[in-house]
Amino acid sequence: MERKCGECTACCKTHGVFEIQKMAGVWCPKSVLSKGCSVYADRPGECRDFACAWLMGFIDEQYRPDKTKIVPEYRIVTGIGTILWLWEVRKGAIRSKFVNAWTLRNLLAGNCIMQVPLAEPPVLFLPERLADLQLAFDLGERRVAVLPFSTSRKFLC
Ligand code: SF4
Ligand code: SF4
Repeated sequence: MERKCGECTACCKTHGVFEIQKMAGVWCPKSVLSKGCSVYADRPGECRDFACAWLMGFIDEQYRPDKTKIVPEYRIVTGIGTILWLWEVRKGAIRSKFVNAWTLRNLLAGNCIMQVPLAEPPVLFLPERLADLQLAFDLGERRVAVLPFSTSRKFLC
């Protein structure tokens, strides 16, 4: 069955919208909590095009982002492969047990995971197959911490 966002508006906080100069990590002024977008019919193209991994059906029904306070998103990056992005909606959610479980499961499957907390530095977890990859980059104004598989377990526990 096709999923719908319903009462969820989580990505209206986590994601930046260039067209209306909305920063990532703050609620969009056009968002009405638990109702949706007040300019839905005329919303920016970026909003129109976005679908989180839950909406696309990759994540179990019970993990809708407004309930978990985490927006999951898959992106494919050349040279790296699939990255699962986990965007924090409410402070602390990124440290929850299920986020750790998703992170570990994807690492073991050979996928990268990018955890994006609201305030702390983002962390990119690299699976074993990418252990030798040297990466240094920023997300907005924040430097991304890159953790190879060997140290990920300690971080997650
Ligand atoms: S986070 Fe996903 S389910 Fe929630 S509003 Fe955005 S696209 Fe829809
Ligand atoms: S314009 Fe609408 S859909 Fe886009 S972020 Fe703002 S509230 Fe969400």
